Order: sequence, then structure tokens, then C-alpha cells
Amino acid sequence: MFNKMIAATLPYMPKKLVWLFSKRYIAGETIDDAVKASLDLNAKGIKVTVDLLGEFIEDLNQATENKDAYLEIIEAFEKNKIDGNYSVKPTFFGLLIDPEVCYENIRTVVAKAAEYNNFVRIDMEDSPCVDKEIDMFRKLKAEFPQNVGLVVQAYLKRTLDDLTNMMDMQNGVSKLNYRLCKGIYVESEEIAYKKYEEINEHYIKDLEFMLKNGIYPGIATHDKNLIQPSYDLIEKYNVPKDKYEFQMLYGVTPELRQSILDKGHKMRVYVPFGKDWFGYSTRRLKENPKMAMLIIKALFSR
Ligand code: FAD
Repeated sequence: MFNKMIAATLPYMPKKLVWLFSKRYIAGETIDDAVKASLDLNAKGIKVTVDLLGEFIEDLNQATENKDAYLEIIEAFEKNKIDGNYSVKPTFFGLLIDPEVCYENIRTVVAKAAEYNNFVRIDMEDSPCVDKEIDMFRKLKAEFPQNVGLVVQAYLKRTLDDLTNMMDMQNGVSKLNYRLCKGIYVESEEIAYKKYEEINEHYIKDLEFMLKNGIYPGIATHDKNLIQPSYDLIEKYNVPKDKYEFQMLYGVTPELRQSILDKGHKMRVYVPFGKDWFGYSTRRLKENPKMAMLIIKALFSR
């Protein structure tokens, strides 16, 4: 109840105050900031996936600007020889305005990454986007078999069926590559598991499906209760270290991250940057009520 209250208040807090607590989750506002943060992570043996912040745009001019910004990011990252790939949110490229235009924008980004033998991950957004994002992934995967991957969300009741239905894309040339996360959006009980235990149980089922079927998973979680069962599955299916990776968000649970690295597993950090940091950071703060509490205290202690 109290956490819900904190969550509801966050969007109305002064931006400057939210920034104080958000900056640990954001690499900065410019491409140079993202390059620097990524090079720092690479120096620690951590790969990155970079994300230009923003989503749910309102006109297609913004979509074109966002596509151009991604092309610039790819040039900068490749020039700096960063060990990393790219993450995109389709609504940032116009998915909910014109899916065809969105597809063309993302296709251009994937084609640019493919020129460098690199990879673009399509983030999964809220439930009205899921079918559209799977369709887009299918189309892109047919043209760029090695250069595109998708995110799936363990909290959605449909996910295991989606994984099964997408198996027709898996073949000798083109392995499937998914990021598995719990899911961050507010979804109804009809379509999503709500209880922590239920979500974790399905997370592990989805991961087992991937490992059993030779899919490359990005195991994206900060939940220590999911890490040991993931290790167990990796061992059970005897999966080599180059056939999966762990993934975490920038600034979140660095000690757990280090403990995974110390065991010799691949780790990739999601590096968000850009001027549009407010929505992203309030979502992260909602996940971390302790941090949100600090903001509230700071607000009322003046
Ligand atoms: P939780 O049970 O939420 O958290 C476990 C523990 O992690 C918490 O107890 C806490 O100790 C710690 N923790 C979690 N979040 C924070 C935080 N913000 N600050 C401090 N500690 C924290 N979701 C989507 O819907 N679509 C996506 O495309 C997507 N991409 C993602 C990419 C990556 C690399 C990662 C790591 C997550 C992504 N997510 C995405 C978000 C994800 O769905 C979860 O909401 C988020 O990762 C929290 O779930 P968790 O597995 O860490 O478990």
C-alpha cells in the first residue's frame, strides 16, 4: 500500500530531485556520456547494450529523428570499438502510429548494425505491443538472421506459447536469441501472473525451454533467487559459456553482477542514456521503494 503511494507520487516530484537519485541508473544525456560509461564497463569485462531513452512518441517526425539518432550512436560505438550491441523500443520509432513506418525505421537501424556484424535487440513493451513486436521481429529475422533478437516477459501468461510458436525461426543458420525478463509494465490479472513466486516459476520454465531448445538466452534479472536456478539449468543442459549471458540494468545490484562475473559467466549491462530520462528513472525508482523513500524524506526535510 505504502509502496503504491510512493509510486503514484513519483511523477509529480521536482525533476531536479528525481535526478539526484536517478543518476545512478542513467549513463548521462549525450552519446559521449554513453560511450564513456560503456568503455568503463568494457574495462571491467562487461559487455553493454545501449538504449536511447524515450518511448511512446506522438508524431512520425520524432520517429525519423530517433532513427537518425540511433544511426549516429551506432557510428560512435563502432568507432570506439565498444564491446556492445543496441536495444530499441519500437514505440520510439512510431509503432503505435504507423507500424509500417516503424518497421522501416527499425529495419534501417538493424541494417546499419549488420554492416558492422552487430546486433539489435527489440525491447518488449506493454501488452498491446506484443503481437506487433513479434511480427516485426519475424520480418527482421527473415532478412537479418544473425543481427536481431527479441525480449520476452515471464509475467505474461502467453509467453511459453509464443516461444513455442516462434520455434519455426530456429534453424542451423539462424539461432534464436531472446532476452528473458520478468516484465515491467502494469498488466491485468487476465493476461499476466501477478505473484512473485508465480512469475519466478514461469521465468525458470521459459529459461528451461530456451536452454533445452538451443536458444541463446540473455538472462536479465537482478533477483538472486533466480540466479542459482539459472546456474542449475545451465549445468543440467551442459550449456557452454558462449551460448548464454546474464544481463542487468546500469546501476542496479553491482555486487550481484560482480559475483556472476567472478564465476566466469558473460555479463551485459543495459546502458540507457539521453535527455528523456525521467520516465525511465521513475520506473526504476518504483522498483526500489527504499530509494523512493529517500526522495520523499528529502522532499519533506526542507
Ligand atoms: P525483481 O524481483 O523485480 O527484483 C529483484 C531484486 O533486484 C530486488 O529485490 C532488488 O534487490 C533488486 N532490484 C530490482 N530493481 C532494482 C532497482 N531499480 N534498484 C535497485 N535494486 C533493484 N522489462 C520489460 O518489460 N521489457 C524489456 O524489454 C526489458 N528489458 C530489460 C533489460 C534488462 C537488461 C533488464 C535487467 C531488465 C529489463 N526489463 C524489461 C525489466 C524487467 O522486466 C524487470 O522489471 C526488472 O529487471 C526487475 O526484475 P528483476 O528480475 O530484477 O526482479
